[in-house]
Amino acid sequence: MSAIENLLSGVDDTRAWQEDLYRDLHSHPELSHQEHRTSEKIAERLKALGFTTTSGIGGTGVVGVLENGDGPVVLLRADMDALPVRETTGLDYASDVTSTNDEGDEVPVAHACGHDVHVTCLLGAADIFSHHTADWHGTLIALFQPAEETGDGARGMVDDNLAGIVPQPDVALAQHVLAFPSGQVGTQPGPVLSAADSVRVTVYGRGGHGSMPQATIDPVVLGALIAIRLNIVVSREVAPTDTAVLTVGSLVAGTKSNVIADHAILQLNLRTYNDATRTRMIAAIERIVKAECEASDSPKPPEFEYFDRFPLTSNDDDITAKVADAFAQPFGDRAITLGQQTASEDFSDIPNALGVPYTYWGIGGTDTSLYAKAEKAGRVNEDIPVNHSPNFAPVIQPTLDTGTAAMITAAAAWLIVS
Ligand code: ZN
Ligand code: ZN
Repeated sequence: MSAIENLLSGVDDTRAWQEDLYRDLHSHPELSHQEHRTSEKIAERLKALGFTTTSGIGGTGVVGVLENGDGPVVLLRADMDALPVRETTGLDYASDVTSTNDEGDEVPVAHACGHDVHVTCLLGAADIFSHHTADWHGTLIALFQPAEETGDGARGMVDDNLAGIVPQPDVALAQHVLAFPSGQVGTQPGPVLSAADSVRVTVYGRGGHGSMPQATIDPVVLGALIAIRLNIVVSREVAPTDTAVLTVGSLVAGTKSNVIADHAILQLNLRTYNDATRTRMIAAIERIVKAECEASDSPKPPEFEYFDRFPLTSNDDDITAKVADAFAQPFGDRAITLGQQTASEDFSDIPNALGVPYTYWGIGGTDTSLYAKAEKAGRVNEDIPVNHSPNFAPVIQPTLDTGTAAMITAAAAWLIVS
């Protein structure tokens, strides 16, 4: 058997504990920044496999490093956190966990984004590489990050001296389980996930009596004009060949029909696929808000508060081609093109901070016959639960086998030197 065949055959040895671990993680989900149990389990296993393991990076982040002679350094990443969602899958390993969120509220928690799949697959790959050291050379970094859902987990690890803890990688690789047929892997060169920004804008008027508008500056009118103008930005300022989304998701002002309020709050969500457009659109938002405030004679400058910010995920073309080539062998026609996704991720904060190229691919998690049936009926959107849905739960197999094999195959494209 070739080295890659040896490595891939290792899945037969890890499958049983991976399935057990997956069910365990699925029924014990933890909110962003609270991944204590999950990270302990990960660290325990990495140590037992001989990885030099560091815990508590950026809160609950864990990194294991396995050195196996001279050769490339490959970083594999998984995220660990779950969501404040009440699971409705009805599975016997479904979550009934509740937890206290940052605001102090008791909320249901579920692995509705499949990060339990990512953890299980990366631990499986780590196990297999550690038991087949004759088949590869180099250094493997297994990185488990907290708080992907809040967009600040990767940044937290970077800011907590990640670069001083791990050797400098040559490449960084990550994957996400998505709502397409289980068993498939999808690669995509270039921008694969959008950058996302949320902005809370506070604009000021002068409050007063509803019957005396001449004595007031009405923030309802001001906010409404801003909302309309912001909805024109994409059609008039973004090239027709580019894409972006700018949504005014919330506009709140006032309390009563005969009271003119003294301020309004708008909440905006922005999605872009390249940094230049992102910069231009943020500038357009601030320009329009400031100009409308001035046009209304607002007594105080507007305030901008940015939150839930996710970087652009733009896959390196050469790295993606190398991974796609590697996938062609074990996966055959199950290796597909993913296509651009409108979701966002913070994974790229890690390779960007370390100055290394990366690629991020998707693995399918949906039962194949269910998917085929929905596709035939033209009801994929209606019948297939997507990530973050309370009904989202990937089928265990072949999802875990595929995600584990994908991690091994991609890393081996660097670590096996023939
Ligand atoms: Zn998610
Ligand atoms: Zn996710």
